[in-house]
Amino acid sequence: MDAKCESCGVTCVTHTTSNGKIFGRKYFRCPRCQRFVMWVDQLNQCPCGAGQCKVRTAKTTINNGRQFRFCPRFRFCPRSAGVDNLGCGLFEWLDTF
Ligand SMILES: [Zn+2]
Ligand SMILES: [Zn+2]
Repeated sequence: MDAKCESCGVTCVTHTTSNGKIFGRKYFRCPRCQRFVMWVDQLNQCPCGAGQCKVRTAKTTINNGRQFRFCPRFRFCPRSAGVDNLGCGLFEWLDTF
């Protein structure tokens, strides 16, 4: 079970949280850019078979800071500030646990 950093393409390293209310939870971090990639228990392949779901953090006023995942075939369109509907349409917030 491993995840890859989207920007570096390297295999992520597993770390465990050591503070806060989510103590002891495992997550993946990129060894190169040190970016949080995802929780280990969120490691997921998109049901449509396109591969690993992508994870982003929302920057809109209402959902600022919330993380979500979506189908790797999705493509964000900066001009329309929306998503071109490619792939299977999977879109999920990750803070519902
Ligand atoms: Zn990286
Ligand atoms: Zn998909």
